[in-house]
Amino acid sequence: MTSLHHPSDETLVRHAAGTLGAGPSVVVEAHLAHCSRCRAAMNDFEAIGGALLEAMPEGEPPPDGLARVLAAIDRGAAIVAAPASVPPRARPDLPEGFQLPSSLDDTNFGRWRWIAPGIHISRAEGAWARASGLKLLRVEPGKRLLDHGHHGIEWTCILSGAFSDGRARFVAGDFSEVDQSVEHRPVIEGDTACICLVAMEGRMKPHGLIGRLHQMVFDA
Ligand SMILES: [Zn+2]
Repeated sequence: MTSLHHPSDETLVRHAAGTLGAGPSVVVEAHLAHCSRCRAAMNDFEAIGGALLEAMPEGEPPPDGLARVLAAIDRGAAIVAAPASVPPRARPDLPEGFQLPSSLDDTNFGRWRWIAPGIHISRAEGAWARASGLKLLRVEPGKRLLDHGHHGIEWTCILSGAFSDGRARFVAGDFSEVDQSVEHRPVIEGDTACICLVAMEGRMKPHGLIGRLHQMVFDA
């Protein structure tokens, strides 16, 4: 299956090199599970990285940048590798038949917390997840997310349901990547709740007093 909306090439390259944060990486992995186009692109990026390594003279240490990338790949592997025996993970209440992406097999989530009428979040637990604001967002049909911009990048993989943000319509498997140039207010479409996996680099920039109050809840 291939989705209509994909991560940017820059995000895929960073993911392939292991330099994308752990939070955004699991969001990208959730998309890759759905998207043959991006899996093929990842294979290309990894092959290019391998060819660069092979082209280096034997015995010559990798340049600083490459050494950092290789170290980051090791760190990334440590982050996504599941331990040999995985105890049952903490999960919020999820709709019957709904399954979280396998990139989250090793991640605990807190219970759903109300942040606005029809909007709940469940935060991923662990310092690495908190650092990138990794969370599940559940929004009921017809609801509209807070009007917000961004100080960094927000990565979202839609896990169920659908929303429209004025630019396009997003359904399960689709990926939304927005930076500080985008101010958007997604609206949930259809008659089922929309559940998304979200990570951020930087902070949301909510508008108005109510938005700032919600920001305090988001950041708590
Ligand atoms: Zn894709």
